[in-house]
Amino acid sequence: MPDFNPVLSKEEIEKAVAELAQQISIDYHNREVVIIGVLKGAFIFLADLVRYLSIPVQIDFVRLSSYGCNTETSGSICLTKELEIDITGREVLVVEDIIDTGLSLEFLLEHLKSKEPKSVRLCTLIDKRERRDRQFIIDYVGRIVEQGFLVGYGLDYAEQYRHLPAIYDLKL
Ligand code: 5GP
Ligand code: MG
Repeated sequence: MPDFNPVLSKEEIEKAVAELAQQISIDYHNREVVIIGVLKGAFIFLADLVRYLSIPVQIDFVRLSSYGCNTETSGSICLTKELEIDITGREVLVVEDIIDTGLSLEFLLEHLKSKEPKSVRLCTLIDKRERRDRQFIIDYVGRIVEQGFLVGYGLDYAEQYRHLPAIYDLKL
């Protein structure tokens, strides 16, 4: 059995999510935002976050593959599910579960900017800094975690543990 070292409890997550939502609601006061969730990891965080918001929102999802667009290539990132809402001229908030190297977000930002939104901001529940390779401003950060392989609250290991209500560092 792998070891599960507690990193964020259910209560700590709830507090972080409520604080993020409060700040986002203040910053976007009376403005409509397109919230873009990055599947699959962000699905639980996004679902909780939007229920605390007091601004009008529209919600859409993208899905990225870090294995490239075909099975032969790896190390490149591929969009495997495109947006359905037109974001041209719109205010966009990207919602991520965790930012690690930053490579997938860098790819996504380029993709979104090609659609000429009015603005793009980033929100992540966890900013994991150990392996950060790309520098950008993350507008909304729930918690900073230095290292580890985290599971729970949407985060998986081989598609397992996404349903856990708290976040753990998995030691195999
Ligand atoms: P990146 O390295 O491009 O910033 O992160 C890409 C994706 O890898 C994240 O959105 C997340 O889905 C996954 N990832 C990064 N660190 C972890 C982690 O500690 N645990 C899990 N389960 N996924 C992670
Ligand atoms: Mg993710």
